[in-house]
Amino acid sequence: MSVSHSSRLNKGVREQYMKLPQGGKVQVTYVWIDGTGEGVRCKTKTLDYEPKSIEEVPEWYAGGTSIYQAKGSNNDMYLTPVKMFRDPFCLDPNKLVICEILNYDRKPVETNLRSTCKRVMDMVADHHPWFGMEQEYTILGINGHPYGWPENGFPGPQGPYYCGVGADKAFGRDIVECHYKACLYAGINICGTNSEDMPSQWEFQVGPSEGIDMGDHLWMARFILHRVCEDFGIVATLDPKPMTGNWNGAGCHTNYSTENMRKEGGLKHIEKAIEKLGKRHDYHICFYDPRGGKDNSRRLTGQHETSSIHEFSAGVANRAASIRIPRQVGQEGFGYFEDRRPAANCDPYAVTEALVRTTILNETGSETKDYGKK
Ligand code: ADP
Ligand code: MN
Ligand code: MN
Ligand code: MN
Repeated sequence: MSVSHSSRLNKGVREQYMKLPQGGKVQVTYVWIDGTGEGVRCKTKTLDYEPKSIEEVPEWYAGGTSIYQAKGSNNDMYLTPVKMFRDPFCLDPNKLVICEILNYDRKPVETNLRSTCKRVMDMVADHHPWFGMEQEYTILGINGHPYGWPENGFPGPQGPYYCGVGADKAFGRDIVECHYKACLYAGINICGTNSEDMPSQWEFQVGPSEGIDMGDHLWMARFILHRVCEDFGIVATLDPKPMTGNWNGAGCHTNYSTENMRKEGGLKHIEKAIEKLGKRHDYHICFYDPRGGKDNSRRLTGQHETSSIHEFSAGVANRAASIRIPRQVGQEGFGYFEDRRPAANCDPYAVTEALVRTTILNETGSETKDYGKK
């Protein structure tokens, strides 16, 4: 089994140090998204007080060239803290903060998609947009092979693994349980978890979260996932199709509602929104993975509970459609709908912004942009 060297260091010895008092000081770990639009980075600083709100956490900076961000000599970038969580690794009173990253001229860097997302969410605050994202991921040994799979060959075909129980069906549940607890401690709005069809593929859900909170909480939940995996010496990948062949890919289904949709008679608002989405399929596909649809084209094949990347479709209880209205919502006549297209490695700021632009701001253009293109 391929686990990292540092995961095999003596964790009992580590515990002795972790229990030491900190002399009234507080460790704050700044977390941000790097220039790939997918990777997270972090660094830690000491404060001599406990910040009670995000406004009390000072701005900081990071060197841009080493995080695939800046070119040339002007390479110090601002880290602007935007949301604060409790630190489940170093425990209270220590903090994790998610940051926006800005250029030396204080403009957001290309892969800082939070900046425009926040502006759009502020514009539509009266509609109270709620999101719930289902983050699928696959755990790998450090050799890049799915964790628990035979070194040569494959596990038995899909069937027994989804929500499966038993050592021959659930690969790596320790990661899932530790991540769940750590998220709850941190204050992430995590609402559930399950194993997936492909062995060593799992999912957690965050939501319902309003507006910009969706992206902030999902990014921090991803950071916590990578950090927990690091402790165990293995790796989580958000690649939307880690294994080719008859294995499910990994998505980030995005459930969405506005206040109108959640009230009696909401179904007609849901249907109206779906009609608008149908006219802007390519625009959405472009924003639903970091390479403008290229990554997702490996996953959205029309097989393995996906729709084709080339076509838009919608239906009640239809898991082979782009958009699914949950059966219960169809019956009750109000609630929310699910956009099944976003890839596991999507940027939730881009996905939630696109949904709001099309369904609330009634944008119809097809202009798209590439971000994080490497
Ligand atoms: P699935 O049946 O597709 O696997 P899950 O149970 O995994 O569904 O995820 C459902 C998601 O829907 C959760 O993230 C939850 O927060 C979200 N959700 C529930 N109600 C709403 C709502 N009214 N608006 C937006 N999202 C919602
Ligand atoms: Mn789910
Ligand atoms: Mn799933
Ligand atoms: Mn789903």
